[in-house]
Amino acid sequence: SDPRFHNKTIVITGAGGNFGRSGCLYFLRRGARIAALDVDENSLNETIAEVRNAFNDDDATTVSPPPESRIKGYSCDVTNDSNVESVIISIVRDFGRIDMLWNNAGYQGQIKPTLEYDPADFARVMNINVTGMFVVLQSVARQMSQQHAEEKAGADDDGTLTSSTLSHPYSIVNTASVAGLRGTPAMVAYSSSKAAVLAMTVSSAKDLAPHGIRVNAISPALIGPGYMWTRQNELHAASGSPYFASNAEEVAKAKIGGVPMKRLGSVEEVIKSVAYLLSDDSSYTSGTNLVVDGG
Ligand code: NAD
Repeated sequence: SDPRFHNKTIVITGAGGNFGRSGCLYFLRRGARIAALDVDENSLNETIAEVRNAFNDDDATTVSPPPESRIKGYSCDVTNDSNVESVIISIVRDFGRIDMLWNNAGYQGQIKPTLEYDPADFARVMNINVTGMFVVLQSVARQMSQQHAEEKAGADDDGTLTSSTLSHPYSIVNTASVAGLRGTPAMVAYSSSKAAVLAMTVSSAKDLAPHGIRVNAISPALIGPGYMWTRQNELHAASGSPYFASNAEEVAKAKIGGVPMKRLGSVEEVIKSVAYLLSDDSSYTSGTNLVVDGG
């Protein structure tokens, strides 16, 4: 177990996906309690099943209570406000409180140059990656703010918080992307949405600081190997964009050639950075963007 996460309730969206699934395992190993959210129930169930398998074989006995009892899956479409609100109510009923949020669900949209990009898909990307992310952030932050107000009311006369020694015990991490900083060709909607996530992070960090909540962003770049990495290179190769070779392997080689460290980042390297921002290790940091891009 890890004192930074032991007994903390962490909400993770996109928990059926690549990052989210590894994140569930990572934080469960460290003693956290996880509310795992995804719109895709099949992949969410696979995450829960994978957790059971992982802990059956190895350290099930070393972390108590057993990890499978500390994770619960919730079917949740982040673009549906009332769905999000009722899921947050269920989480508070099931876990009693929320300490951290990894706001991570996302959709990359079409891989098409700007002249050919479908405006309907542009709107869908913005709806999931921006409005959906905001609705989850707001819903969870309301709960955190209420907890913080109750804890403050219960503080000693000298103002010392009884349940936490920190002024800002609550933490939110939004998954952005370097696409939002640099603009990836053939991904105009995705890049726009992740730039909006960065602005949402700085602005909400200011609004939420008086409520004991920190908000930061993480911006991964090339992460792999794996299905996502391979598929994206195939799509870039087929996009017709002059910035990419028409062969997926050449696209991959050129991308890695542009990274100072000359390699891909691993999902675990992303999650360790998320862990830093979620935990008290970053207790005086809010409104920042941690770039995980190999230099
Ligand atoms: P992924 O596609 O494996 O996971 C994304 C998850 O979000 C999926 O399980 C999907 O079902 C879920 N989702 C989509 N729409 C949803 C909705 N409306 N409501 C709820 N859940 C929804 O992708 P990933 O690689 O795990 O990416 C996670 C996050 O990281 C995304 O925000 C992505 O943009 C970002 N990101 C990924 C990379 C990378 O290299 N993989 C790089 C930079 C940023």
